[in-house]
Amino acid sequence: METGGCDPQVLLLPMNRLNMVVYAPGRTTTYPSSPPDKGLRYHYLGGGNEVGNVGIVLEDPSANRLLLDYGLAPTKPPRYPDEAPYVSDAIITHSHIDHLGMVPWLASNHNTKLHATELTAAISEMMWYDCHKVSSIERYPLPWDKRDIDIALSAWNTHKFNSAWEQNDWKLELHRAGHIPGAAMLHVETGTKKVLFTGDFDTRDSQLVSGAKPVKTDVLFVEGTYGGRDHPVKEEENLRFIERVAEVVQRGGTALVPAFANGRTQDVVMLLHKHLPHLDVHVDGMGKRVAKLQMEHPETLRDPKALEDAWSWCRRVSSKSDRKKALAADVIVSTSGMLDGGPSIWYLNRLRHDPKNALLLTGYQARNTGGRRLLEENRIPIFGNLTPIDLEIDQYSFSTHAGHSEIVQFAKDCEAEDVVIYHSDPTMARPPLAKALEENGHNVHVPENGISGILE
Ligand SMILES: [Zn+2]
Ligand SMILES: [Zn+2]
Repeated sequence: METGGCDPQVLLLPMNRLNMVVYAPGRTTTYPSSPPDKGLRYHYLGGGNEVGNVGIVLEDPSANRLLLDYGLAPTKPPRYPDEAPYVSDAIITHSHIDHLGMVPWLASNHNTKLHATELTAAISEMMWYDCHKVSSIERYPLPWDKRDIDIALSAWNTHKFNSAWEQNDWKLELHRAGHIPGAAMLHVETGTKKVLFTGDFDTRDSQLVSGAKPVKTDVLFVEGTYGGRDHPVKEEENLRFIERVAEVVQRGGTALVPAFANGRTQDVVMLLHKHLPHLDVHVDGMGKRVAKLQMEHPETLRDPKALEDAWSWCRRVSSKSDRKKALAADVIVSTSGMLDGGPSIWYLNRLRHDPKNALLLTGYQARNTGGRRLLEENRIPIFGNLTPIDLEIDQYSFSTHAGHSEIVQFAKDCEAEDVVIYHSDPTMARPPLAKALEENGHNVHVPENGISGILE
């Protein structure tokens, strides 16, 4: 689904910065050089007609301008948004890499002030270091280096939810987005228009967070990851997972549950604690550090005590000997969620010989990942060897993105005259969503990366 306009145009630098890549200044930006004559201009550097890789510039005729998110798509190879023009201020909706992966470049090259919730800022550091590590291991170029992380870290300005600040004559405010702790929607009042960007959002509650609530707005920029698709009923999907785990444990096996670090790991541990408190559950990977930061920001959580209780109940793996002990656990929850390296591969390699064990996937498995390969071919690269896996494998839909019906209802409740659908697959997901929104009377816009749109 790679579409035009989102491929990185990069210059390779020789020798000492062999793996480094930079944008070619002035040549890769698609952004117009002067402000719009009238109305509000929006321009997707990335994420307009694709999932992830987000960067949106909003500008009015007085040259008041902001950037919303600046991420990358962690595909193989990664995709990068177009080069950002100079922006004094950027708002980062949440701490997933497809929304903040390029922020170190931004802070270092444009000295941009970064705005987000406290928790997003706190988690950003480990997300950037992890991104840097992965790109070195996989030998993919990254347009920024570790020094740029330090610059970005000193550029954070943090905001509470529902507490406005000003940028010239615009009034900006963050609202809860659901999705993951700390995730925000941005509301902008420009004097002539109210604009709401959802970032990644979900109106349904999860174990960790309460769902997003509608905000009255003229223009809604909505993520359409799940356009055309509805989620299974949450309680039923949770139950299906819980029952399968219980079954695996009953027969004397260990359930290996690969999970993303930022959101999914904690959601799954809380679910297990709530329904199967008698089990022995071990947790490994970066999700441990994320949980600690989440607990330091209880204002972002639906039920802070539930996370604390679940976290003190599970066993956190912190050494090699812990890891070996975990092999005898009932359940192991570990990164990487897509079985691309990380401890989950190590566990799979040890657990794969006993058919009593099972592998329970908790998220989408992207192309070219170990998890996808396993689903399609029953084989997975383990430490360089393509290895057949005979274990029972199952997959669960624990998404914290709004499904089709939730998106349509949300747009209606926001009373948005115009709706811009982004963060959406332009061939499969966006057309049915656009159709449903049009039928409800919204003016629907379907942006392309690199092409500006004007809201009048
Ligand atoms: Zn996203
Ligand atoms: Zn996200």
